[in-house]
Amino acid sequence: MACNLYDLLTRRGSKWPLAPFLRAGHGGDFSYLDLDRETARVANALGALGVGRGDRIAAQIPKSPAALMLYLGAMRLGAVYVPLNTGYTAAELEYFLADSDPALTLCDPDAREGIAPIAARAGAGRLETLGGQGEGSFANLVADADPEFTSVTMEADDLASIIYTSGTTGRSKGAMLTIANLLSNAETLAKAWAFGPSDCLIHALPVYHVHGLFVATNTVLAAGASMHLLPSFDASEVLRLMPQSSVLMGVPTFYSRLLREPELGPEAAGAMRLFISGSAPLSPEIHAQFRSRTGQAILERYGMSETGMMTSNPYCGERRPGTVGFTLPGIDLRIADQATGREAAQGEVGMIEVRGPNVFKGYWRKPELTAGEFREDGYFVTGDLGRFDEDGYLWIVGRDKDLIITGGLNVYPAEIEAAIDAMPGVAESAIIGVPHPDFGEGVTAVVARESGVELDEQAIADVLEPQLAAFKRPKRIFFLDALPRNAMGKIQKNQLRESYQRAYETP
Ligand code: AMP
Repeated sequence: MACNLYDLLTRRGSKWPLAPFLRAGHGGDFSYLDLDRETARVANALGALGVGRGDRIAAQIPKSPAALMLYLGAMRLGAVYVPLNTGYTAAELEYFLADSDPALTLCDPDAREGIAPIAARAGAGRLETLGGQGEGSFANLVADADPEFTSVTMEADDLASIIYTSGTTGRSKGAMLTIANLLSNAETLAKAWAFGPSDCLIHALPVYHVHGLFVATNTVLAAGASMHLLPSFDASEVLRLMPQSSVLMGVPTFYSRLLREPELGPEAAGAMRLFISGSAPLSPEIHAQFRSRTGQAILERYGMSETGMMTSNPYCGERRPGTVGFTLPGIDLRIADQATGREAAQGEVGMIEVRGPNVFKGYWRKPELTAGEFREDGYFVTGDLGRFDEDGYLWIVGRDKDLIITGGLNVYPAEIEAAIDAMPGVAESAIIGVPHPDFGEGVTAVVARESGVELDEQAIADVLEPQLAAFKRPKRIFFLDALPRNAMGKIQKNQLRESYQRAYETP
């Protein structure tokens, strides 16, 4: 099917060109007409630099309206957008540039000097700059470019973006997302979450990740809605914007931080119709506290870079804490027995596998790796373990690689973490498996206490004893001030496993 992602996403918005699309305080406001003109300028500027259909544009740039315009301008041109985490070090960047083989690389003006030799070594194409205030060499080219552009006609199966998976373990790989993948997910979510033109989203997520770039931005566009764009999450700024907004999309840390704000209450959140959480598990405690403070039940959903969003708690109906809701329309999701690959019995824990228009095309230039992640009948193996309850809500019990096998028995971290997190005085916890001389792996807890709380290993063990079978109970409990997390709020279990790998060695 001949199409262009930008044109399809802005079908609604272009009907009311003067309606607002983006508000960014001092960074400027954009109507849908402004969006059209600005993305046309970007597409023309990219074209003038020799970037064409199918070429990669790698961008490690600060969040700003200009960063979103770059993504959308690239879509108009039919280029492939490769956003890169702003936290990546120079050494990491070299790998991404060499792997994605971009025609154009964009970086912050301040980083140019350091990145130029890396980009040259990686054989990356031209290097231009784009800063957080919309400054830089690329911004100058855009300012001088023509505001008219006819979007390039593409095929639905063409690539729109390559997303390097968060890479919490091993070498990061590039997930190839097509126009059809992004479009189907945006339309599905706009419908599932009842987005309309009068919605205004508080956008406080990074734009180098699927959550902020696609879930947030594309859903707003598909609905012809608008957004407040914040450079990063700031709890008091989010509270200030709530009376003029209707939806917040966040990672669980947004909600735990909002709960620390004394002003958070039913009035402050009164204009908001929906709070959404994803990218990492939202604890039932945070869900309950948020509900008692604001009267609103956070809607948790589940997805990943390779698949977009797969499940969501219902907009209308019970949002069940601790679950990620139901499979979204148009998507097939099954729980498979890990050993046989056959569908598991209802209620059993197994591998979450998914098929549908949302599922990516494969890993960039890694056909063998891609083949290994798909079943013969087209299902993608997510690497997450879960089970459906009797009402069809999906419970995630952890990543496959986080599964602990102790004395031959499977232990799923989520269950033990939930029991520890429910204790007063616990801020958060992580359960990891580390080498153990008798059991193979020893169940090990790492706990962050709330400040000023006295809680020791014995006190936690005493609470767990009547709740969990002995093989599931942590053999050792360590304390940290805070657990290591990445920017998307995911606990870095590989770092913890490394730190405690000698926990059971005899001195
Ligand atoms: P990423 O590709 O960076 O978006 O990471 C995707 C992974 O994040 C998934 O495979 C899950 O392990 C995890 N994830 C995303 N949303 C949730 C959620 N609501 N609850 C638990 N884990 C989640």
